[in-house]
Amino acid sequence: MKLTENQERERIARRIRLTLISLLFLPTLAVSRHVNSSAKTGDFDGARAYEHVRQLVDIGPRPPASDGIHRAQAYIIGQLKSFGCPVEEHDFHASTVLGDLAMKNIVVKLPGRSSGIILYTTHYDTVRIPNFVGADDGGSGSGTMLELARLFCARQNSLHVWIVFFDGEEAQGNWTDGASIQWKNDNSNNTFGSREMAAQMALSGELKRLKAMILADMIGPANVRITRDTGSTRWLTNFIWDTAAQLGYKNNFANEDYAVGGDDHFSFIRRGVAGCDLIDFSVRDSYWHTPQDTLDKVDPRSLQWRVFRPVILLLTWL
Ligand SMILES: [Zn+2]
Repeated sequence: MKLTENQERERIARRIRLTLISLLFLPTLAVSRHVNSSAKTGDFDGARAYEHVRQLVDIGPRPPASDGIHRAQAYIIGQLKSFGCPVEEHDFHASTVLGDLAMKNIVVKLPGRSSGIILYTTHYDTVRIPNFVGADDGGSGSGTMLELARLFCARQNSLHVWIVFFDGEEAQGNWTDGASIQWKNDNSNNTFGSREMAAQMALSGELKRLKAMILADMIGPANVRITRDTGSTRWLTNFIWDTAAQLGYKNNFANEDYAVGGDDHFSFIRRGVAGCDLIDFSVRDSYWHTPQDTLDKVDPRSLQWRVFRPVILLLTWL
């Protein structure tokens, strides 16, 4: 039986209400444990996420196989280890028009009580444009995932949580300005890291355990306004947007369709995994892929917990 769109939305709304209610009435023990652990670790802290963005921007341009990205890798890995996260470095080689480029996905794998896996992802490389420091594009998602890792590595999760920093998301080529390189729709010149990871997981059989893949890319602008990517999986998008609305974040998760066109989530969606891209692409006609993507374009309030609460709640629902 195929559910109609309305039935599907109603089913999701019911599940969200139940999830929210069950969270409100957590047993006292669980609550006090939460209070204790949050006293130690704190909640998601937008200021911490922003500080990571600042550190990455300070490094300068971070295109694949550059000195800059090597420093970014050292920073991300060092931070993850300081949070007590187990870190895996997945090295691979990408065949590009610039030749063979050494790339690295950085992966944190946290065990869960059930066998399912949820992936929280971003890309940490920056586009190969001179003087491009990628505060929003490359920085905001990385800062958010680092802060999310600090939270997840300090707690017991219901599902296996994997946090992944992809290399080589941007199209590789001899960029001179934003219009000089086309993003190929067959992905042959972009999304190297996510394609590598999805292929590896298919080979190992882990792809079958994947419940959902969440991608954060460009979520830094002030008053962040994330539209519904029509290429993302419908039920997953519905869950996040409906939860956000119930939590009062309607302005951040706008009920407006927009086709992002291509991003790391497609590497997984193409293989039958539910994926959702969280992206505020309203900046595409202003600073996107220009040297003006600087730190002042990122607002710590946008990196705050509220944006990620619906996505974290997913864990209790899947
Ligand atoms: Zn980009």
